[in-house]
Amino acid sequence: EEKILQVNHLKKHFDMGKNQVLKAVDDVSFHVNRGETFGLVGESGCGKSTIGRTIMGLYERTDGEVIYDGQDVHDMKEKEKFVFRQNMQMIFQDPYASLNPRSTVKEVISEPMEVHGLYKSQKEKNDRVYELLEEVGLNRDHANRYPHEFSGGQRQRIGIARALALNPDFIIADEPISALDVSVQAQVVNLLKELQQEKGLTFLFIAHDLSMVKQISDRIGVMYLGNLVELTASGQLYDQPLHPYTQALLSAIPIPDPDIEEKRERIILEGDLPSPINPPSGCVFRTRCPMAMEVCAKQVPAWQEVEQDHYVACHLYDETISDKRPVKQVEKETAH
Ligand code: SF4
Ligand code: MG
Repeated sequence: EEKILQVNHLKKHFDMGKNQVLKAVDDVSFHVNRGETFGLVGESGCGKSTIGRTIMGLYERTDGEVIYDGQDVHDMKEKEKFVFRQNMQMIFQDPYASLNPRSTVKEVISEPMEVHGLYKSQKEKNDRVYELLEEVGLNRDHANRYPHEFSGGQRQRIGIARALALNPDFIIADEPISALDVSVQAQVVNLLKELQQEKGLTFLFIAHDLSMVKQISDRIGVMYLGNLVELTASGQLYDQPLHPYTQALLSAIPIPDPDIEEKRERIILEGDLPSPINPPSGCVFRTRCPMAMEVCAKQVPAWQEVEQDHYVACHLYDETISDKRPVKQVEKETAH
């Protein structure tokens, strides 16, 4: 398998003034194989969109590397950047916000082609727009209408057509279906899957809903407060989640088949998501982790490959730690 994208120890910190630093992305590493869908999941504010934007080069990195097709995105020369911007495109959550309401659908879709000088005549441009509209399940009659005349699902299709206009290899889809009705979500997911097959596209699929990511992804990375906490194949993550946070997220997904005996106990996380400006010491998840141990406040858990292609950052899987009693249990024991 060929690694089309490598993210190595990426950090994106924002200076908030008054000596405060927001650690939106803090030492995150993963790769994406060519032709796969990599899902990035986590609560809003966990840094997943910031990763997407930093990969695209829309944000400067604070530290670490983003290697696309063998080249560091943040070290590219202008010419290389121009080619990169053709190869990597983004789809957003609210397609209406990213589409200019005063532009016709044709103008919206053809704008990136114009920037990159991809057509020689009006006819060539129009033909390409009609072709793109058909590829996303719309038709040429839609070309001269305005985005606001369309439903949410149709607007997302227009957003996808615009992203496809430059024949990209890689698409970052940031919550592309979160704002859509459930019935429409499946249609858009199916369209993305079809396009992936036809064009050999690679997807980085960002979402806050694990059940959604699970359907479409080959591999999944779970994020919490600017950190990756677990990463493995989609099926493995579902069958054998290792990190207490992943376990809590999965426990909230109803098992679709009522005949399945196995029941997951619902794990309710206590407390709120801490601020990334002042994250907890040690493991960032410890303030809400039902399994938190004494060591968790003192040491940052290492990112380790526990089984082949299954990575987790949690002291529970650190063999050098002998006392794994949860703090809560120890407190109970010493209370009487
Ligand atoms: Fe919980 Fe400790 Fe594992 Fe963090 S390192 S997830 S606090 S058990
Ligand atoms: Mg977001």
